[in-house]
Amino acid sequence: MSLHISRGWPGQQHMEAECPCPTEACGYVDTSKVVDACEQHPVARAKTIRSSHDSRACPARNGERSVS
Ligand SMILES: [Zn+2]
Ligand SMILES: [Zn+2]
Repeated sequence: MSLHISRGWPGQQHMEAECPCPTEACGYVDTSKVVDACEQHPVARAKTIRSSHDSRACPARNGERSVS
């Protein structure tokens, strides 16, 4: 299991846009894909994460997975 995290407020993913981590369809960074060189997202550097959701509950996936 992993989380999608963002250091910006909802709707503000400028932090993620400028960091080296790959972003998911929702614009957040997957905790399992965080790049060590990033100074924002590695857990060891644990800075304020303002937004997050379970990767399985990613809003960007709702449209491609079973919608019922
Ligand atoms: Zn990052
Ligand atoms: Zn997501």
